[in-house]
Amino acid sequence: DSFIVTIDGPAGSGKSTIAKMIAKKYNFTYLDTGAMYRMIALYVIRHNIDLENKKEIEEMLKNVKLDIQGNTFYLNGEDVSEAIRTPEVSKIVSPVAAIKEVRVKLVDMQREISFGKRIILDGRDMGTTVFPKADVKIFLIASPEIRAKRRLKEYDEKGIAATYEEVLESIKERDYIDSTRKESPLVKAQDAHEIDSSKLNIDDVLKEISAYIDK
Ligand code: C5P
Repeated sequence: DSFIVTIDGPAGSGKSTIAKMIAKKYNFTYLDTGAMYRMIALYVIRHNIDLENKKEIEEMLKNVKLDIQGNTFYLNGEDVSEAIRTPEVSKIVSPVAAIKEVRVKLVDMQREISFGKRIILDGRDMGTTVFPKADVKIFLIASPEIRAKRRLKEYDEKGIAATYEEVLESIKERDYIDSTRKESPLVKAQDAHEIDSSKLNIDDVLKEISAYIDK
């Protein structure tokens, strides 16, 4: 039967790395909900959508079809798994995710995908808005400097050019927009376990979360 684990926290706190490890260990489905917002942001860039224009937003939401197969993401049939990870998308995704109509559509999809499953989801509002009754809730944090270093390393590995200062700035801006927006801001759910990944190595984080799941 269904079992839901949520991992929320700011950009670069290590959510997706740890969520993948948990999914593998427990044979859970993994859903990266940030990727869903990134797909909408990519569409916004490509079609030059005006974020202030409600009609355009509604029209866009009728026209986008998101299809998720594990860690492969299809936007209207095109594999955009790589295209959604660029600094350009990161830059615009938070304003896009702050739009109510966008969230309504994606939250519906997230609940539908999860229905009846043993699943781990990472995002910003999984334990607060989307699954307030989740079985295990984690709030994963780390200092902005450590998060920027991690993100820079990912960009390096993918051959994406960026400086530490740019990445740090972008992360801080995203944190600010995500935690001050009106719709489902990034906050720790009251009953979430907070883990600071700057102070622990990944195996210790895995151990701690496993202990909550096994309880
Ligand atoms: O997790 P990731 O950093 O890829 O998420 C990209 C952006 O999508 C976040 O900065 C946030 O604005 C938005 N997001 C959200 N709610 C979620 C997941 C992501 O608002 N559940």
